[in-house]
Amino acid sequence: MQAICRHHITDIHKIGYLSPYRTKGFMYKEIFRQSLDHLKLEGRYRVFIELEKIPGAFPRAKYQNKGQSQEITIWCSNDYLGMGNHPAVVKAMHQALDQDGAGSGGTRNIGGTHHWHTKLEQELADLHKKDSALLFTSGYVANESALSTLASRLPNCVILSDVQNHASMIHGIRYSKAEKMIFRHNDMGHLEELLKNIDPHRPKIIAFESVYSMAGDIAPIKEICGLAKKYKALTYIDEVHAVGLYGPNGAGIVDELGLQDDIDIICANFGKAIGVLGGYITANAETVDFIRSHASPFIFTTSLPPSIAAGALASLQHIRKDPTERLQMHQKVSLVKSQLRQTPIEFLDSESHIIPVMVRNAENCKGISDALLKNYQIYIQPINYPTVPKGQERLRITVTPYHTPEMIDHLIKSLTTVWKEFGLTSCQQKAQKDQAAAI
Ligand code: PLP
Repeated sequence: MQAICRHHITDIHKIGYLSPYRTKGFMYKEIFRQSLDHLKLEGRYRVFIELEKIPGAFPRAKYQNKGQSQEITIWCSNDYLGMGNHPAVVKAMHQALDQDGAGSGGTRNIGGTHHWHTKLEQELADLHKKDSALLFTSGYVANESALSTLASRLPNCVILSDVQNHASMIHGIRYSKAEKMIFRHNDMGHLEELLKNIDPHRPKIIAFESVYSMAGDIAPIKEICGLAKKYKALTYIDEVHAVGLYGPNGAGIVDELGLQDDIDIICANFGKAIGVLGGYITANAETVDFIRSHASPFIFTTSLPPSIAAGALASLQHIRKDPTERLQMHQKVSLVKSQLRQTPIEFLDSESHIIPVMVRNAENCKGISDALLKNYQIYIQPINYPTVPKGQERLRITVTPYHTPEMIDHLIKSLTTVWKEFGLTSCQQKAQKDQAAAI
């Protein structure tokens, strides 16, 4: 088999096209293997860490490796509040499982709408101060369905999308085939420049996130709403990394800023701070009914199991009435950040709970992650391309209410040691280098 050189293999179609075996029939396995080899060569091959939860001990878990089990501390979970192990959530799921059985039995239209779905949708609409809500099987499906439906069915729609939007939003927009305009990340000047040049009679949607999950920065939501009003655009926000964590009701950044009336459509999920699984949108009655009636990935799929909906409902109800977990999480996040500031470790000191440690190299990122796991029983997944651009590889630390001061101490000491072992520059050295390069 002729070797396919590295720069040729950019996507699977190209490999197929280039394959010298094409005339003898496709060498499917060979094509797949070469693509995987390419990922390995670039240090982007994903290795899953197999975890086994320890009842009542989150964020401690057992790491299963080649038949060996080792206790570790998870420092990268999106179960930000540990609600996946909360007794109220687990109990609600047990009860619903006993009462309603395992599966929902159908699509929402054909036997798959249960009282848990309806109750959860009511709770969500109430939480976000909207008329209605609609459940999806994940946040990904919610974004993809809602954006593709809106942008494809609003006649001659233009969609304006932040360049750092999540893959699910990008796919929804792409699938809609509507005209799209990408604005620079959180750049209001650029967004206005684009809006100005669109025919005022065309429908427009501005799609963005509140908390950007890989850098932890927060969108200028008020300013975006101002522009949306001025240019008569719909606003679509993804609050996946904010619901449960911000605002007086735990409903997200929009709740914290009191901008519920200025945002048209909110999308979020239950897989992060809510600790379960599933996604939703919430908006006025007409918008939700429109998406409910036209979105193919909503219509043609089995609905969430009732026990999942019951667990999400219990979690949301707890978060609404009791801010203990989110307050503790924010305190612990501040503690980790203040300790990191005393080290040479470069991290993005964002306004949110997400703490990205900037390694800026795929191999080192994986190497540091491996060393932390092997030598210090600390699990932080390396984040590489395409999740972040090449050269921006990072370790994304998340802190939960259940990380103790001892665990935090251990994290900071271990990370500092490994950082030095890898010969990474300190923040100060890096700043000096950047300054020198800029002159
Ligand atoms: N939106 C954002 C910003 C995300 O980070 C994610 C998941 O990582 C999703 C949507 C998808 O949510 P889910 O995991 O529920 O599919």
